[in-house]
Amino acid sequence: MKNKKRAVVTGASRGIGKEIALLLGKNGYTVLVNYKKNKEAAEEVVALIRENGGWAKAFCADVSKRTEAFSLIEAAEKELGGIDILVNNAGISQTKLFTDVSEEELEEVFASNLKSAFYTAQAAEPLMRHQAFGRIINIASVWGEEGASMEAAYSASKAGLIGLTKALAKELAPSGITVNAVSPGVIKTDMLAQYSEDELSALTEEIPLGYIAGGREVAEAVLFLSGEGASYITGQVIAVNGGFHI
Ligand code: NAP
Repeated sequence: MKNKKRAVVTGASRGIGKEIALLLGKNGYTVLVNYKKNKEAAEEVVALIRENGGWAKAFCADVSKRTEAFSLIEAAEKELGGIDILVNNAGISQTKLFTDVSEEELEEVFASNLKSAFYTAQAAEPLMRHQAFGRIINIASVWGEEGASMEAAYSASKAGLIGLTKALAKELAPSGITVNAVSPGVIKTDMLAQYSEDELSALTEEIPLGYIAGGREVAEAVLFLSGEGASYITGQVIAVNGGFHI
């Protein structure tokens, strides 16, 4: 019987990606824990999954680079025997006036947040097509839906990721591959370090559910999209934002 529980999570050493890897690991998925720099943190995630009786391995790859993104999927073939679930979570933020964004800075945000998902999906598609099963889940952002002032590059990269999700959903459906996005609102991770306490309080006041969630809430949506119950869902953007943007 085909194993439908082999998952690759990009940017899984910290934050939302870590929670996704842990939750998938807890639910019987074998997980390749990708990271860019933080080997120690990634190994900790692996250890936590193994402590809970799961199986995981860490793999270093800068997915903003095409060759490294492809090497990640090759590692999935070698270490997991294939790939069923691809979670494109790796991303970076950037806050500055859009007139101050240099060509290199724009490229870094687009490569990290958008091109990375394009590359990993390109690498995974033949394997998924061959087995007529695959789930690609892209972690977008509320700012990709509504745009954020001083975050033009970030917002554009995430809006692009939503466009990629919808286009791939149509192109890959005949191959048995679903493609969806999970769009978090404000989530407590290192990425929020750029905000002051006052800014965070102001943001919290704008969240109808009244609090800033952790990565676990996002991971639950990813777990659902990975599972049998989501078999007829494709091309959708599932918002996990406490009502911040409706
Ligand atoms: P985070 O805490 O800053 O963690 C980022 C993760 O991505 C780390 O594991 C990092 O690896 C990895 N990473 C970054 N660039 C990478 C690359 N080129 N190749 C491989 N791994 C890379 O971020 P987060 O808050 O968890 O965000 C995760 C995703 O959710 C991002 O796509 C972000 O845009 C999105 N999101 C976050 C929020 C929020 O409020 N936090 C809201 C909406 C959307 P290292 O540890 O090795 O550096």
